[in-house]
Amino acid sequence: MFSDSSERLVFARRLFSAITGRGNQDMVLNPGREVAASGQFVDSVIERARRNEPLEYIFNSAQFLDFDFVTNGKVLIPRPETEELVMMVRNHLDKLERAAHVLDIGTGSGCIPVSLASYVPGYRYYAFDISDSALETAHQNAEKYNCEVDFRKVDILGWESAIPGSLSPKNNDGLYDVIISNPPYVMDSEKKDMQSNVLDYEPHNALFVPDADPLVFYRSISRFAARFLRPGGRLYFEINEKLGKETATLMEDCGMCNVLIIKDLFSKDRFAVAEMPSI
Ligand code: GLN
Repeated sequence: MFSDSSERLVFARRLFSAITGRGNQDMVLNPGREVAASGQFVDSVIERARRNEPLEYIFNSAQFLDFDFVTNGKVLIPRPETEELVMMVRNHLDKLERAAHVLDIGTGSGCIPVSLASYVPGYRYYAFDISDSALETAHQNAEKYNCEVDFRKVDILGWESAIPGSLSPKNNDGLYDVIISNPPYVMDSEKKDMQSNVLDYEPHNALFVPDADPLVFYRSISRFAARFLRPGGRLYFEINEKLGKETATLMEDCGMCNVLIIKDLFSKDRFAVAEMPSI
């Protein structure tokens, strides 16, 4: 079930915290302590782990930067690449002078707006998702960290037929300062290289796109940005490492300028940043 002893230790610690409601350090400080748990609970957890279900779903929590987000099978498990994306946006927000309006499209667990709202308070945060259950989980995370995020149910692929008022921020000109998105970008043909813990448990509508049109979300979101970003505003994407050039060209075609493709910690093309031209 686990490939090495450190994975076993992580599992034992998470099981211990789930039973006792206490953190890991308690297990380290009191190794001999006896704990009470129903055999049924422990058996079901072990059975789920045996079937390769991610621990983030079994224990309903995932570490992300300084946070511990609620997760379940309806939302993608937050990834380290997305931590980098958040830090990049955070640096930018720290430099903005006036209260910015910041939108995350396809928010899932809400890890992007909730961590940004915690790090850079005082700005207005908005988040869209198509899935009611994802929005519910994102709400829980915003509440857990006491953040105000304006969550809205939006199908971004169909934004052109939505009522404009349902898409714009609550300010005078109805424009955002920053738009962020980590949309689905894994091509169907890449499934064969993926592990069963991802394929069997994570929501496919948050991960996969058809090979025939892998940038479908990027096109729709870039067009949305061209309509709803203020001049000088920024669009931040997490991207498929194989599609850096194509994504950059598409963003330019949609009217964005100063497009940059940025590498992640593993030296893969992972982020695209662009600006809305100042007229
Ligand atoms: N980085 C994720 C993965 O490799 C994909 C996230 C996404 O599709 N937006 O599984």
